[in-house]
Amino acid sequence: MRSDPAEFGWLSPTSLAQALEVLAEDSNQWLPIAGGTDVMVQYAAGTLPRRKLLNLWNLRELREIKVFSGEVEVGAGATYTDLRSHPVIAGEFPLLARAASWTGGIANQNRGTLGGNIVNASPAADSLPALLAYEAELILVSRRGERRFPYGDFHIGYKRMNLTADELIRAICLPRRFSGYISYSRKVGPRAAQAISKVCIAALARVARTDFGLMVQDVRIALGSVAPVPMRLTATERLLKGKSLDREQITAARRALSSEIAPISDLRSTASYRTKVAGNLLEEFLQQLLKG
Ligand SMILES: Cc1cc2nc3c(=O)[nH]c(=O)nc-3n(C[C@H](O)[C@H](O)[C@H](O)COP(=O)(O)OP(=O)(O)OC[C@H]3O[C@@H](n4cnc5c(N)ncnc54)[C@H](O)[C@@H]3O)c2cc1C
Repeated sequence: MRSDPAEFGWLSPTSLAQALEVLAEDSNQWLPIAGGTDVMVQYAAGTLPRRKLLNLWNLRELREIKVFSGEVEVGAGATYTDLRSHPVIAGEFPLLARAASWTGGIANQNRGTLGGNIVNASPAADSLPALLAYEAELILVSRRGERRFPYGDFHIGYKRMNLTADELIRAICLPRRFSGYISYSRKVGPRAAQAISKVCIAALARVARTDFGLMVQDVRIALGSVAPVPMRLTATERLLKGKSLDREQITAARRALSSEIAPISDLRSTASYRTKVAGNLLEEFLQQLLKG
């Protein structure tokens, strides 16, 4: 353990308003902590950027999952267990429910939160490709008020994001418009549980069978671990959208993917392996669409 507890302060506000008040007074001193599954790793390594921890775990306002007719509002403090066990998330947002089911182990899923996964901003984070595919929006809150922001514009570089020091993520909004979509997701790692992804994918498509074959009406493809931030493959999607899907299109889509992603070699994998696997995952998704 490289941190000394005696050097740290800890505050547990009893309401979201109180937490925002503390951040507004002295935002550069306090580090929010939700489940602590990333913060405590940094604590143990002695790399925490701040010495005062603001505990969000008990804030009920952040934990709720509210279902409205047009969208589901997931509190940033909802855990992976909350997500997995929620019937609307499991039924309408299977990409997110599946990502929650393979994030860490059970203990991690009982503590780790969706908001923490977003702000920790790992390019390998498992739930973030699902948020891109569903075009989620974030509700950010501070004492100054709330602002709503597309999640796709939130991460602006490696561990850089559109969040000021006095702001918290209050909720993640998922539009309820994907009922007719086919979903596909996979996590590729060294083992089935407790592994950080070498590559992960979350994809959605709406297709129609026509006289000319299988028409891709809409498609969304998002990948993790292939760039400094989780990314949506917009050029590959453009190539596929509104066209018939066949062997040639799949080959062209693989080529488009290779020119869109920018993976690195690191201790978990190599850039060339990640490129190859990402192409294989895309191909598997498209082949599954063809096979119906
Ligand atoms: C053993 C282990 C296995 C893991 N496996 C995986 C895995 O398979 N896939 C994966 O993606 N991740 C994995 N993780 C990482 C981690 O569990 C997730 O990133 C988790 O979602 C973090 O959530 P948390 O609530 O614990 O965040 P915390 O550690 O509490 O916080 C993380 C960051 O988010 C900030 N934060 C938290 N909530 C808010 C908020 N509402 N508003 C603003 N800022 C906020 C904190 O200030 C901090 O900077 C693993 C971690 C461990 C220890």
